[in-house]
Amino acid sequence: MRTPLIQLKQVMKSFTLESGNEVKVLDNVNFSVYDDEFVALLGPSGSGKSTCLRIMAGLTPATSGEVLSREKPIEGINLDVALVFQSFALFPWETVYTNIALALKPMRLPQGEIKVRVKKAIDLVGLEGFEEAYPRELSGGMKQRVGVARAIVMDRPVLFLDEPFSALDVLTADTLRTEMVKIFLDKKTATRSMLMVTHNINEAVFMAKRILVMGINPGHIRREIVNDLPYPRDDQSPAFRRMVQQIHAMITEAMIPDAPGAHETPSPTSSALPRPPIKEPPLESLPNVQIVEMIGLLEAIGDRGGTADIFELGQATGKEYGRILYLVKAAELLDLVDTPKQMVQLTDLGRHFFDGDINVRKRMLHELFGALRIVQMTTNLLRTDEHLRVPVEALTERVAEWLPNENPDAIVEALVSWGRFAEYFGYNDDTKEVYLDVGQETT
Ligand code: ADP
Ligand code: MG
Repeated sequence: MRTPLIQLKQVMKSFTLESGNEVKVLDNVNFSVYDDEFVALLGPSGSGKSTCLRIMAGLTPATSGEVLSREKPIEGINLDVALVFQSFALFPWETVYTNIALALKPMRLPQGEIKVRVKKAIDLVGLEGFEEAYPRELSGGMKQRVGVARAIVMDRPVLFLDEPFSALDVLTADTLRTEMVKIFLDKKTATRSMLMVTHNINEAVFMAKRILVMGINPGHIRREIVNDLPYPRDDQSPAFRRMVQQIHAMITEAMIPDAPGAHETPSPTSSALPRPPIKEPPLESLPNVQIVEMIGLLEAIGDRGGTADIFELGQATGKEYGRILYLVKAAELLDLVDTPKQMVQLTDLGRHFFDGDINVRKRMLHELFGALRIVQMTTNLLRTDEHLRVPVEALTERVAEWLPNENPDAIVEALVSWGRFAEYFGYNDDTKEVYLDVGQETT
């Protein structure tokens, strides 16, 4: 039986916001990292990937559930792991050498041993000759090499990487990915296993042996995919492309369910049963995206003749995949697009919007935005005040009640920014009040 190096059991995590509201960001998360494993946590931003890492590293406690490291519950900082961050977080006034050596400071090792270990780490990540350089003299790629060396030098069995290459240019990121895989495979360091957080499907498929796909609201693990492709991997090979497409389809389906009823087959007894009462439409959450960004997406789809592949759109616009999905979700909420499978398609309304000038678009957005239930509820709330305005905290509190599993601050932010554009709501920055834009109200 393999024993896990690190294990999460039924982990739940919630945060208490300043408003006093609780947001649940992880729900019932269970997984283990075993010896000689490269595991990727793959998910859109906000799915709780970093929070998972922080919990496993002992940087923040789980709200409930168990965290075991080499079969013992962790207490405080987990000394079995070392971390590599996206932002390199180097001390600008220290050299490469001392930036790495500082990671060993708490261990109070003899000088001689520090020298040996730092030198070995420097060689492994290809920083020879840069020992005396300062961070400002280094490129992003070289800085991240220091970040990796600083983690390796600690001789911990598990390395955690949080979006380690996302701040780098494409070529540098590719090089470092290959080198990281080599460090993992060669086992010339104390590192036995790696756990990497990423939102990049290609990166996960290129590096990991096992991929845990995370879903959102609250963050949870949706699927586990074993990746047996032999190293070194070729991202152009058909097997590689297939795996990317497969994961991609899985994520798309989760975030953009087909129209209600699309999958329902009538049950044989349905005609004998009384019709269920008409349900209130579900209260939608508003994706926190800028309207202009969503309009940009609609234009990109229109420019492609009204239908586009979501994956291709992400690549063409250089946007993070999770971001594209939010934009698509926003457009879908307003009935401007449909999303059959991996495609996104302008609806008749969407086409009309695409063809329209700014006035047509504003008018349409006013109508479509006003049709959302959360907008109507907000409008009703504002109407309870004789001056048609409420403090933003009051609205945030109500939104937290309406949508208890979501981040109310983000939704209020979206309500206000969309509302402004659609000339529905306004926000007074001095009084911190949201008001009804009565100038545009037809009633
Ligand atoms: P990911 O790394 O997948 O992008 P995170 O783990 O950073 O996701 O965050 C998950 C969710 O938890 C987000 O909605 C984020 O806003 C929220 N969150 C993270 N840290 C805090 C915090 N200290 N207080 C309140 N909310 C937080
Ligand atoms: Mg993160």
